[in-house]
Amino acid sequence: MSVHWHGTAHGEVVDDEGNTRIVGIPQVGLDEVVALLDPDAVANWVQQLTRDYAMREPIVCQPPNVRWALTHDAENQLEAAKRDRIVAMMGDSLIITFRDDNGVLLVIECRAVHSPMPMQGGGGVVCVVCGAAC
Ligand SMILES: [Zn+2]
Repeated sequence: MSVHWHGTAHGEVVDDEGNTRIVGIPQVGLDEVVALLDPDAVANWVQQLTRDYAMREPIVCQPPNVRWALTHDAENQLEAAKRDRIVAMMGDSLIITFRDDNGVLLVIECRAVHSPMPMQGGGGVVCVVCGAAC
């Protein structure tokens, strides 16, 4: 059984009437599916989008190390990338959400696609959605 992931991303904006509108982001079109072929690709793609979009908010860390820190700083991103890679290594899907500087909720999804073993003697299997050779 082999696995790859379909990466998609969109923003969610709530208007004054409380209706949620789905919007695209510059890096990933609304109908675009990014082929992610291994756990490293999953973690790197999520990390890149987080780096580009996530709002930096100051937070206060609790004692004994009382200090100010930023959410989604480089250290947070490295830890998150490690977790994302482990989840992907287990063959699971990921959904990551965070807000950008304008308060838009970003939704990043890496959906695991488990493909059957190629037929014996056949030429392999190609994903009909993203074209990845499985
Ligand atoms: Zn695919």
